[in-house]
Amino acid sequence: MSTIKDFNIQGKRVLIRVDFNVPLNSDLLITDDTRIQAALPTINHILSNGGSVVLMSHLGRPKTGPEAKFSLSSLVKHLTICLSLDVKFVDDCISDQAFEMSSNLKAGEVLLLENLRFYPQEKKGDAAFAEQLAKHGEFYVNDAFGTAHRAHASTSVIANYFEGNKSFGLLMNKELENLQKVVEGPKKPFTAVIGGAKVSSKISIIENLLPKISSLIIGGGMSYTFIKAMGGKVGNSLIEEDYLDTALKVLNKAEEAGVRVFLPEDSVIADAFDNHANRKSVLSDEIPDGWMGLDIGIEATAQYATCLRESRTILWNGPMGVFEMENFETGTHEVANAIVEATERGAYSLVGGGDSVAAVNKYNLKDHVSYVSTGGGAMLEYIEGKTLPGVAAILD
Ligand code: AMP
Repeated sequence: MSTIKDFNIQGKRVLIRVDFNVPLNSDLLITDDTRIQAALPTINHILSNGGSVVLMSHLGRPKTGPEAKFSLSSLVKHLTICLSLDVKFVDDCISDQAFEMSSNLKAGEVLLLENLRFYPQEKKGDAAFAEQLAKHGEFYVNDAFGTAHRAHASTSVIANYFEGNKSFGLLMNKELENLQKVVEGPKKPFTAVIGGAKVSSKISIIENLLPKISSLIIGGGMSYTFIKAMGGKVGNSLIEEDYLDTALKVLNKAEEAGVRVFLPEDSVIADAFDNHANRKSVLSDEIPDGWMGLDIGIEATAQYATCLRESRTILWNGPMGVFEMENFETGTHEVANAIVEATERGAYSLVGGGDSVAAVNKYNLKDHVSYVSTGGGAMLEYIEGKTLPGVAAILD
């Protein structure tokens, strides 16, 4: 796979699609700059090799047009500090002023465009909008792995206007290299740990993983749909009634594929969705009415940890419980610790998807797993074997 390092960018204006969709607080200050940090190697590479940089990104979910709270102007100060140079900003993407500023860029300079999603054409993959954006550079780089599964104007359509002058950025390349370790010939035993709130959002990844994995560990709210489908009593736990049949089918498919499925034998239950609710430990299929499972129990945690310690490839997506609440975080924390232990013994561990990444960060374990992917949806779709439009557009 070729990257920006394989091209001569001396004297060129390089237009980079980055993922600067960072969380901001009510004062519009960045609360987690991971995504900005992840894009710096590509930007610095271009600057130190005689190029100039035009950055474009989306931020948040603006509805119909510009909204101050989603302006990328909030990032300029921080970006200026990260890059140790004055980052220019223009409050539009395709205005005359925007084109004037990008065409006047000198080598070593950086211009940030306003939020791409202030234009509805961005998400529609509008070709005319993509063609306009393309005028900002002589070379196009896609370094936004988090949006690579979207066929938007700036992530895929735009690449048509850069025949022979386009590449992956260093982050995107690193993501693809790491995901390939899981997709192509993973070391066995391969365990997938899938958790989080809903079965519906994870069914397709589970089904696609079955031919590849040795064990499937299920945790989080989604467990209770499986347990209810098997005839268990789950009280007021989170349930997706429409998915009871699907859950049973998945369990049958797993059995046919020889995959060992772990569901939480016991749970920590609470009488309200509240950190300070009354709580107790029970078998997961004997949850009384009025109570809900909010974390996996001690037995389940021990079983999951044993399986993980014996695994040589691990994929983790989704927490084991409501880890945001102190009283229901133990299962997620202990599973994270077991993944770290397995990694120390030589296993390859890939963590991806918003909440498992948040959990790894919460317990400061980011540097103790093999790779933390920046793309939740994009990572899952890639592992499922789908073609990502943002990747295909560069390879074309
Ligand atoms: P997802 O986005 O589907 O990966 O879900 C992540 C969310 O699931 C987190 O915010 C967790 O708090 C929540 N979650 C995990 N376990 C449970 C549970 N047992 N009941 C309700 N919510 C849960």
